[in-house]
Amino acid sequence: MMLGLLLARAGVDVVVLEKHADFFRDFRGDTIHPSTIDLIDQLGLRERFDAIPHNELSRLDMVLNGTRVTPVNFALLRRGNRRLALMPQWDFLRMLSEAAAELPNFRLLMHAEATGLLHAGDAVAGVTATAPTGSLRIDAALTVAADGRTSALRAASGLPVTEFGVPLDVLWFRLPRPEVNPPDTLGYVTPETLFITIPRTGYYQTAMIIPKDGFDAVKRDGLPEFRGKVARSVPFLAPVVDAVKSWDDVKLLSVQINRLQRWHRPGFLCIGDAAHAMSPAFGVGINYAIQDAVAAANLLVGPLRDGTLSEADLARVQKRRARPVARMQSLQLALHNAIGKPGGGAILPSPLPWSLRALLKVVVPPLRLVSAHVLGRGFRPERVSPAILRD
Ligand SMILES: Cc1cc2nc3c(=O)[nH]c(=O)nc-3n(C[C@H](O)[C@H](O)[C@H](O)COP(=O)(O)OP(=O)(O)OC[C@H]3O[C@@H](n4cnc5c(N)ncnc54)[C@H](O)[C@@H]3O)c2cc1C
Repeated sequence: MMLGLLLARAGVDVVVLEKHADFFRDFRGDTIHPSTIDLIDQLGLRERFDAIPHNELSRLDMVLNGTRVTPVNFALLRRGNRRLALMPQWDFLRMLSEAAAELPNFRLLMHAEATGLLHAGDAVAGVTATAPTGSLRIDAALTVAADGRTSALRAASGLPVTEFGVPLDVLWFRLPRPEVNPPDTLGYVTPETLFITIPRTGYYQTAMIIPKDGFDAVKRDGLPEFRGKVARSVPFLAPVVDAVKSWDDVKLLSVQINRLQRWHRPGFLCIGDAAHAMSPAFGVGINYAIQDAVAAANLLVGPLRDGTLSEADLARVQKRRARPVARMQSLQLALHNAIGKPGGGAILPSPLPWSLRALLKVVVPPLRLVSAHVLGRGFRPERVSPAILRD
């Protein structure tokens, strides 16, 4: 959506396909990072953004075996936005799509599922799709696969993927806010598991990390044990845990970390999770997908407008984005191999002894500025090029 908005704003004809009839999907978190909010400012969309109900956090707290730590403080950032917004993705996407819909050369086809690639010789020349009205054929100078971690277009392209293997999946469910709420806390690491609690208006979007392919075992243990695990790990949620009435209230989200060796073919480019699936670790995948979109727009708008687009232009997008993505994925893998996995907290005593708590008090504060940069801005934050903003 972001790439479509930017290209359309620069005068390129764009068609965006979304396979669902609406954006109301729960398959990703809600984080909008400071560098993405900087882009919203650049695009003049801040007023619309602020009008959407959302929460803002200037710091990220974790509770580690019962001890609260603040490893990230965005307020320390020296420029730009210094807060992370938590906004449901469907609201954010709706805002971008409404801004794009005001441009004459932007078309969004909802409920239109891309099913395959069209070819002209060796080059990709568009997509086939299905929509309620029947089959579609869309010819295009450039086809961009931004269809996420189960990308059908990436599969159709045959581009080889390197899998890095993540030993976990996520159970995703909602819990009402109890009467007493602690300060906003992104994660609870316990010897049993890792919980994520995303504060949304009126409820918590909650995630429990389980071993890969472990949902059947969780179901076999039964709902009372599941609820008990929530209450043991995040005690303040104990009064509301009965809100999970059946397994229908719990969704399984599959976690992957992988990356294409080559993100492009002639006439075809993958960005976002389609090029490099990100795990939920640090909640940065949305930001990286958006930064890819901005880099792609900046580098491709000229060749698209001039009709000179070549595969070398597409290679430039990969060259610009591959390294920051690889660095962040390495951090995600390191976190999963340490405490960001089921039972991750078991490597530390529970509760943490005073000596370790004292050590954390000394070690964590100096890291906050670095972590605010790495997570809040990312390894290579992008700015929309003046060539796009001018038009
Ligand atoms: C459990 C979990 C929690 C996460 N939490 C966070 C978080 O809090 N913060 C964060 O930054 N990242 C989070 N991530 C990572 C994040 O979800 C991704 O990195 C990010 O969504 C990638 O964005 P994208 O636009 O590339 O793909 P997606 O967000 O997956 O979007 C792809 C879009 O394409 C559509 N689509 C798919 N196939 C087709 C088709 N054939 N035709 C037409 N449309 C199609 C989909 O409906 C969807 O709208 C999480 C990941 C997981 C697994």
